[in-house]
Amino acid sequence: MADDLYHRSTLFIDNELVPAHSSARIDLINPATEEVFGQTPDGDATDVDAAVRAAAAALPAWSALAPAERGDRLRALADAFEKRLDAVAELVSTENGTPIGLAKAMQTMVPANYRYFAGLADDFVPEETRTTMTGDAVITREPVGIVGAIVPWNGPQPLIAWKIGPALAAGCTVVIKPAAETGLDAYLLAEAAVEAGFPAGVINVVTGGRETGAALVEHPMVAKIAFTGSTAAGRAIAERCARDFKHVTLELGGKSAGILLDDVVLDDFAPFVMSACTPNTGQTCRALTRILAPRERYEEVTGFLAETMRNIPLGEPGDPKNFYGPLVNKAQYDRVTGYLELGRQEGARVVTGGGRPSDFDRGYYVEPTVFADVTNDMRIAREEIFGPVVVVIPYDTIDEAVEIANDSDYGLGGGVFSPDVEKATAVARRIVSGTVGVNSASFPMDAPFGGVKNSGMGRELGPNALDPYLEYKTIFRAV
Ligand code: NAD
Repeated sequence: MADDLYHRSTLFIDNELVPAHSSARIDLINPATEEVFGQTPDGDATDVDAAVRAAAAALPAWSALAPAERGDRLRALADAFEKRLDAVAELVSTENGTPIGLAKAMQTMVPANYRYFAGLADDFVPEETRTTMTGDAVITREPVGIVGAIVPWNGPQPLIAWKIGPALAAGCTVVIKPAAETGLDAYLLAEAAVEAGFPAGVINVVTGGRETGAALVEHPMVAKIAFTGSTAAGRAIAERCARDFKHVTLELGGKSAGILLDDVVLDDFAPFVMSACTPNTGQTCRALTRILAPRERYEEVTGFLAETMRNIPLGEPGDPKNFYGPLVNKAQYDRVTGYLELGRQEGARVVTGGGRPSDFDRGYYVEPTVFADVTNDMRIAREEIFGPVVVVIPYDTIDEAVEIANDSDYGLGGGVFSPDVEKATAVARRIVSGTVGVNSASFPMDAPFGGVKNSGMGRELGPNALDPYLEYKTIFRAV
């Protein structure tokens, strides 16, 4: 069968769609219908090697360009992506069940991301001469080399942009490995890259699963891995990279706390129930899934959360009125429903939800769920569930709230909600985490993003986003 939007047998290498080495394919299942709707190659080590070699051949010329010329290509990529924005959003929504309104909003970030990184390329100073303690020195900033960008299924294009944007701006060439569930949308990015005039080999895409990713991590010519995904995979990748001292940045899972201060106005908090606590049907790494509520307002908060989540429309992801969709796949459905059962066994109280919605006879839907009477030592309070499930834990003092928030293996997000912004900011400073929102769910792309503890290492975005893609060299001179 010839390639079309949903069926691919080729990989994007050296600006060409080349047949995959083996006939192994990944069947793509629409999470709303449970039916197979498409296919991508399951790339193997031979495919990865071809892509890496194309990236290696392209590296000298690409890294020799003036940074602002690389910025021009990134701006052209933003323009070319923008033309495909609706097509990408529809494809992603079919692949992973993201409600279409959110899928479009997420794709809108992508050209903005590429333009931001283009600006960083414009401002990039590849070398400077400094007076040092022993003479003068030329300090050069050189691209690390070939970058493997490995991403999950929940926000494929923004997460690719966060990696390849700074990598390309810095002068690196890239091999992208999308998640098995969301390989198709990467072909539209490839199409945009060709239209944007990227030289052959600068951007390559190899679809596949874990083995494909592992082949990229292991490839001796790859200098850096930029990874977003689960903590378990991140650990395996970091261990493998350590053996060869490969550069690695890891954006991993989370179990972030949302602290409601005692003066919180719940009607003001309402929009954040979806946007901060359960975005993308809860399948978001920085979701605030542990809500800490003042004990004297505990029942009011749990009732309010339950009522708000019940009223958020859930259903067919292609229908723009829905803000909750199905979970991405059967494994995720089993995992989340397993936690719903575990919560009951641990003694938590289901305030709303707790199972499968009765009006769906197919699709990986689960009910948005609020657990009350939760203590921070329960597994539902400690482990990342990655579904529309929040747990509510009472606290008596702000010190106790901070202690509970920080008593976590993770440290990716966080939130503090109060009409008193300064009071909330003082609490936010005490949270051990890479990001914390104060009455806000939208982190800015021109500020650093990342996690501490089991949520990863390194930062993406922000004015220093190129740093993880650079090697510094000092030429010290007696002059
Ligand atoms: P995953 O870790 O299973 O897979 C992520 C990607 O890594 C996929 O492309 C997969 O094929 C690949 N992969 C898996 N194991 C690998 C290995 N050993 N070597 C090389 N590649 C490997 O995660 P997922 O289920 O796709 O995504 C969900 C997870 O991602 C959640 O835990 C979530 O919190 C996390 N996430 C984090 C962020 C963030 O910025 N911190 C953003 C989104 C998602």
